[in-house]
Amino acid sequence: MGGTPVSFEVFDGRFNVGGDNYLECLFSDARWTEGPVYVPSGRYLLFSDIPNDRLMRWDETDGSVSVFRFPAGYANGNTLDRRGRLVSCEHGERRVTRTELDGSVAVLADRWEGGRFNSPNDVVVSSDGAVWFTDPQYGIDSDYEGHAAEPEIDGCHVYRIDPASGAVARVADDFQRPNGLAFSPDESRLYVSDTSAGHIRVFGVDGGGLSGGEVFAASPGGNLDGMRVDVAGRVWAAAADVNCFDPDGTRLARLPIPQPAVSNLVFGGPKRNRLFVCATNSVYSMMLKTNGAWRL
Ligand code: MG
Repeated sequence: MGGTPVSFEVFDGRFNVGGDNYLECLFSDARWTEGPVYVPSGRYLLFSDIPNDRLMRWDETDGSVSVFRFPAGYANGNTLDRRGRLVSCEHGERRVTRTELDGSVAVLADRWEGGRFNSPNDVVVSSDGAVWFTDPQYGIDSDYEGHAAEPEIDGCHVYRIDPASGAVARVADDFQRPNGLAFSPDESRLYVSDTSAGHIRVFGVDGGGLSGGEVFAASPGGNLDGMRVDVAGRVWAAAADVNCFDPDGTRLARLPIPQPAVSNLVFGGPKRNRLFVCATNSVYSMMLKTNGAWRL
């Protein structure tokens, strides 16, 4: 697809991990890309093309793109658990699933106290195997990213699936539209974006519970969405562009992306030093001078 020179706009001198300033477009034939996850065992990137109800697969060895799953339950966020299994949020089926090593799909959670979830949006797995996910209403607002429907539960919340029992707990209930989420490298912090409120919040993590929840950073423009953390704890957040925040909340830099909006991003490649960016109808990548905190 070719690349183009693009430079970071640096706001703070502590930012010293800019890339090679070569932004490659890997794919541009989607409607709305989301949910990037790099699979190191196969050297490929999976990403969702939500309105087209498909999961796509970009092969790092030859640059080819193919359909990984169709229909895909209008999948949105994806991640890997610590055993390398794909965990996905499905707008259409209003559930969180895990693709087992034999290819079968297991439902991890699909309702809260009898009501179906709204439309699970994004997901992260902590090292103890717990699955944390957000549940805004984008997948039931209309038929574009799922199936239009009335909510069956009282709001848009953050949930945790216990790794031992499979029980679902509501861990935050004061969001408008929770969206992306990411752990700090030592998993002592969980960052969660609230798209409607226009900010990222940061929580302390205590076992299966959260504390605090103060505002970490305001949206620098556009809708805050997915996030990942690098090995130094910097928060890389999708909004109108890619934004990099210091762990103290300072906005360090912006990577302009030539699309109206950025939905999500992930670190990948064998060294986790390649940033993959889902932006509107496209997927981009750039090599960076830092590495993702984990293969998520
Ligand atoms: Mg999202």
